[in-house]
Amino acid sequence: MSTTLYGGIEAGGTKIVCLVGSGPDNVIAQERFPTTTPDETIARLLEFFTTQRDAGYEPAAIGFASFGPVELRPGHPEHGYITTTPKPHWSNTDVAGPIARSLGLPVAFDTDVNGAALGEGRWGAAAGLSTYIYITIGTGIGAGAVVNGAVAHGLVHAEMGHVIVEREPGDDYPGRCPFHGDCFEGMAAGPAIGARFGVRAETLEGADLAQAVEWEAGYLASGIRNMVYILAPERVVIGGGVAELPGLFPALRRKLAASLAGYPGLAEHESDDFVVPAALGGMAGPLGSLVLAEQALPASG
Ligand code: ZN
Repeated sequence: MSTTLYGGIEAGGTKIVCLVGSGPDNVIAQERFPTTTPDETIARLLEFFTTQRDAGYEPAAIGFASFGPVELRPGHPEHGYITTTPKPHWSNTDVAGPIARSLGLPVAFDTDVNGAALGEGRWGAAAGLSTYIYITIGTGIGAGAVVNGAVAHGLVHAEMGHVIVEREPGDDYPGRCPFHGDCFEGMAAGPAIGARFGVRAETLEGADLAQAVEWEAGYLASGIRNMVYILAPERVVIGGGVAELPGLFPALRRKLAASLAGYPGLAEHESDDFVVPAALGGMAGPLGSLVLAEQALPASG
């Protein structure tokens, strides 16, 4: 039995990763390059997949996990577009369409965060679970929810990085979300952590680090409490640079337990494997785009 190959694209605002393979143990080819203009970037992607096809590695479908915002509604005239991004040249740009038409392959399209969520669910920290949340915390906060095995979206993708969080005692930082000020992302993304102390978050040490971790854990607990009560995830997986703050996870587990306050009283919510670090690092998105690609094919038995 031969293994079905898939093509994956993880498109970030600064770089693109594309690959052909079937999983972490079978990546046939992989390439990364800077995200420049849409024309140039799409041409480079087409060249990559054409080269693979010529070498005998034709994917059955492509998964495209993109920076956003994106249009995901099936049947919408702009499905597969990047929509209102401030990134120059990319606003209202069809990205999935040219790939599908030029290669003659089905393309499944979703956000980069949802792609990473699928990767962690297949091979990473949420493997084997059907309802979980993946949160990435870096320069912003993105979160994807997989519910009963499928990424949750409706009118648009979920934007759980912008939920309301409860202010931590003693923290007078105004927040830095351009839309909401002190939402989850405004208070807890990497740049917000450092800004309170006038340094980059990763250079904090001593008492400042301890205070930063305590506050960060508090905002995460507050944001995650919303998600726990709305979606009832079996696990919450956290990736991105901020997940590496020393001591963050024990503080977060303590604060989340305090915030849930014993309701509804599940031992699982207080277990060390309820809120966990991501396992695939930078490969969550590229590998997840292979999982996304499978969804472009009709379900088979
Ligand atoms: Zn916001």
